[in-house]
Amino acid sequence: MRQWRRHLHQFPETAFEENETARFIAARLREFGLDVHEGLGETGVVASLEAGTSSRKIALRADMDALFIQEQNTFAHRSKHDGKMHACGHDGHSAMLLGAAGYLSRHPQFDGTVYFIFQPAEEGRAGAKRMIDDGLFKLFPVDFVFGMHNYHDIPEGQFAVKSGPMMASFDCFEIVVTGRATHAAMPHLGNDAIVAAAQVIGALQTIVSRTVDPLNSAVVSITQIHGGDTWNALPESVVLRGTFRCFTPAVQELIVDKIRKTVEGICAGLGVSGSIAFNPENPGYPVLVNAPNATELALLAAAKVAGSEGVDLCPVPSMGSEDFAFMLQQVPGCYVWIGNGPSEGSCLLHNPHYDFNDAILPMGAAYWVSLVETVLPAEV
Ligand SMILES: [Zn+2]
Ligand SMILES: [Zn+2]
Repeated sequence: MRQWRRHLHQFPETAFEENETARFIAARLREFGLDVHEGLGETGVVASLEAGTSSRKIALRADMDALFIQEQNTFAHRSKHDGKMHACGHDGHSAMLLGAAGYLSRHPQFDGTVYFIFQPAEEGRAGAKRMIDDGLFKLFPVDFVFGMHNYHDIPEGQFAVKSGPMMASFDCFEIVVTGRATHAAMPHLGNDAIVAAAQVIGALQTIVSRTVDPLNSAVVSITQIHGGDTWNALPESVVLRGTFRCFTPAVQELIVDKIRKTVEGICAGLGVSGSIAFNPENPGYPVLVNAPNATELALLAAAKVAGSEGVDLCPVPSMGSEDFAFMLQQVPGCYVWIGNGPSEGSCLLHNPHYDFNDAILPMGAAYWVSLVETVLPAEV
């Protein structure tokens, strides 16, 4: 697994271009004797393994894509692709799921069917949704789907999981404030889009502080402002971009509604126009919600690997997002975090010094095997 992981680390590929990665993974799966389906959701791979007579089916999912980050590490297995890097550990996720597939092919101590899903484009491009749209769960219908991600500041090889919402939704928005350009010394002859945009930015801060129930978590951030070209002219328009995240669909809808009303109201009052587009480039991500029954099974499986003291049952949910949430909208299931060790040094996700901790490869693979044996127990 370490060799596979370091190989994948050296040749990172980003969203929907994971061709060599998928080829490498599919070749290993065929070596294990699994049936392999390629090209689902562009570069996604699904392999199936059957044992016994049960019609029960589950899916285990890993992600394959890398990030547009210039790696700062100097070790031998550092990225050979300029500007791209496995800084989220998807190299490790793929290696662990491959390890589990290999083991289960040699020791099929379960009764049912296991699908191993290797998905593209987790990082912001909704590869999970693309696979679903391509018929993932029609071609491979399952009772449960399970996911796993490494996480910093959880002790290495330990697990954390909770029932219900565990990771936030993710949405982007673009606001265009359009006024009337004029000389900076004669503002009364135009309509100032910059002053209006500034009011919009200020007012959007009240959505979380004054509209969302304080017991619900949400964040709204403006991340870009574009407007104006020179010192002495007011521009025609200003573009604002940003993102918001929260933990329930109801809050998600509330924020959408409030952004719309805030922009329209302020712009109307100031005599400019405001238009809003939500998720203009890529789909937003839903809230990641673990099903209670699947979470029970995941807890049992994790405790068999790490001991009950090695499983945190009430981690603080993350404001980060995960497109595995799309799969959990289709099929009940559970997503767990596996500890990658302290974030100091090399373990902080999306950091140019990140490296997946190879010491946890056996724990992750063992969790997958334990999960299969727990959810699809062999007849004794
Ligand atoms: Zn990531
Ligand atoms: Zn990730």
